Amino acid sequence: MATEAELRQLLADSCRIMARLGLVDYMGHPSVRIPGTDRVLIKPRHSLRIRSQDRVRPDDMVVIDLDGKLIEGKDGPPSERFIHTCIYRARPDVQAVVHTHQPWATVIGVGSVPIKPILHVQSSLVEKPVPVWPCAKLVTDNDLGEALAKTLGDHSVVHLQGHGVASAAATVQEATLNAIHLEHLAEATWRVLAMGREPRVIPPDEIHQRTATGVGWEVRWAYYAEVAGVKS
Ligand SMILES: [Zn+2]
Repeated sequence: MATEAELRQLLADSCRIMARLGLVDYMGHPSVRIPGTDRVLIKPRHSLRIRSQDRVRPDDMVVIDLDGKLIEGKDGPPSERFIHTCIYRARPDVQAVVHTHQPWATVIGVGSVPIKPILHVQSSLVEKPVPVWPCAKLVTDNDLGEALAKTLGDHSVVHLQGHGVASAAATVQEATLNAIHLEHLAEATWRVLAMGREPRVIPPDEIHQRTATGVGWEVRWAYYAEVAGVKS
């Protein structure tokens, strides 16, 4: 089981990787449950002190409870912490949540274009249609967070139309990789549509063959960690 120090480092690594890949700027945030507790470690709210996500440090992460109340930390939690807390409350299987305003997925969602399995490595993520929450409000209370979590259902990603995405998984690494993969799929969708063509949707048997034979998330995380210059 990961220690709190290791989880703080993973969140900082996630911030740096997503910043390097252009998925986040000063907005967006990853979080993780502290094992054996009802508390959550989360990147703090952006401020005059907390700016570019490739500089957020493990010690900067703050602790909140599942009501969104700040328990520990110098800085305040993000105003949209209810994205995280409401998903954790609805989904005991979820250990990590990532929220981004990643540009390609957001634009594709604004156009109400579904993100389909069109790239083989990323295809399994969207084999089931990505749920869309047609609301661009800041998720600043339990009512909004619960509506979003209900839309997510048992999926790994949910689109917040006109806003961004949320990704939920068993680890920080997988939640981050799912956001990265969704962005790849969204960009590829855009590029094929810009060619005036309809993308070929990969059928289930081809998705399942690739999933059964591809490398695990640990290998992909190691690659992105190297790209971003972190030690994970
Ligand atoms: Zn947001």
